[in-house]
Amino acid sequence: MVLLLCLLLVTAASGCSQRKEYQESTVYAMDTILTFQVLTDSDSGIFDLLRKEVDQVNLMLSATDAGSELYRLNQSDGKCFEASEELADVIVRCLSVAKETNGALNIALYPVTQAWGFPSGDYHIPNGEILKELMKKIDWEEIQIEQNQIQLLPGMALDMGAVGKGYLTDRCVEILKEQQISSALLKLGGNIYAYGTREDGSAWRIGIQKPFSEEVAAVLTAKNEAVVTSGTYQRYFEEDGKKYHHIIDSATGYPADNELESVTIVSASGFQADALSTAYFVMGLDASIQAWKQNPDIGVIWILKDGAIYYTENLNGRFSAAEGTETYMVRQE
Ligand code: AMP
Ligand code: MG
Repeated sequence: MVLLLCLLLVTAASGCSQRKEYQESTVYAMDTILTFQVLTDSDSGIFDLLRKEVDQVNLMLSATDAGSELYRLNQSDGKCFEASEELADVIVRCLSVAKETNGALNIALYPVTQAWGFPSGDYHIPNGEILKELMKKIDWEEIQIEQNQIQLLPGMALDMGAVGKGYLTDRCVEILKEQQISSALLKLGGNIYAYGTREDGSAWRIGIQKPFSEEVAAVLTAKNEAVVTSGTYQRYFEEDGKKYHHIIDSATGYPADNELESVTIVSASGFQADALSTAYFVMGLDASIQAWKQNPDIGVIWILKDGAIYYTENLNGRFSAAEGTETYMVRQE
C-alpha cells in the first residue's frame, strides 16, 4: 500500500514537471508584432533563445537601426564594405531571386522606399523630380559582391524589408529543431510558419486574410511550411482618396499597380516564401503564374482586387475559400 502510494506520487510529480503546453511570447521587432506559440515545458528557455535570434537578425538586417550591419553598409558611400558571411549570404540569395524574377524583387530600392516614407512611417507621395533622381540609384545589378566584400555605388542603399522576416523565420525554425520542439506556430506579421503539427497530430490551419477586412478569405492546412502573404493592405496610406501601398515597382518608383490585392506563398523555406511573395505581387497575376510554372514545388494563392482567388493545383484538398468566393485552380498543364 505504501509502495503504491509512493508510485502514484512519483507519477504525479513527473507528470507535472514534464507536461507540455502551448506557451506564447510576443515581441515587437522589424516593424511588426512577432508572436511565437510553442509547445513546451513551463521552464523551457526557448523564448529567450528565440528573442536572442530576433535581436541578432535585427542587428544585421535593419535599415533604420543605426547600430545594424546593413545600416553601416548603407553608409559606405561607394567604398568597399567587409560584411559578415551571413549578410553576404542573404544578399547573394536576394540577388538570385532578383534574377529569377527579372528584378521584381529589388533590394536596392531603399532610396525610393525612403522617399515614400515607408521605413520611417512618415508616409507621403514623393516629389516627381526627386523620385526621378533616386530612380538612378536603384539598379540591383550594380551591387558588387565577392565573398564577403560588398560595394555599392555612391547613393545606393539596400532595403531587406521584403525578406527579413522570412530569413528570421528560418533561423527560428533551426532553433526549434535544435531544442527538439515538436509543435509551434510562428507569426511574424504576414509571415506564418507552421512547425510540426498541432499537439493532436493534425495539421495547422492557417487563415489567409481578406484584404482590408478582419475576415478570413481562405483557410489552408500546413505542416513544416511557411505561409507568407504580401498585400496592399499590410502597409499603406491614403491621399486624395487614393491608396498608396508599400510594395514598389522598380520600373515606375510607384506602388505596384495591377489586379492583385495579395499574394501568399507556401514553401518549406521562409526566406523563399517571403522573397517570392513580394516579387510575385510586383509581377502581377499572369507573369507570376508563368514564374510559378518554373517553380512548381511552392504553392501560391493570389487574391484579386475583385475578390476572386486563384490557387495552384498543388494546394488542392488543403485549401478552402470562404463561401461565395469565385475560385480558380491554376494548373501546371
Ligand atoms: P513584404 O511585406 O515582404 O512584401 O515586403 C515589403 C517591403 O519590402 C516594403 O515595406 C519595402 O521595405 C520593401 N520593398 C518594397 N518593394 C520592394 C521590391 N519591389 N523589392 C524588394 N523589396 C521591396
Ligand atoms: Mg516578402
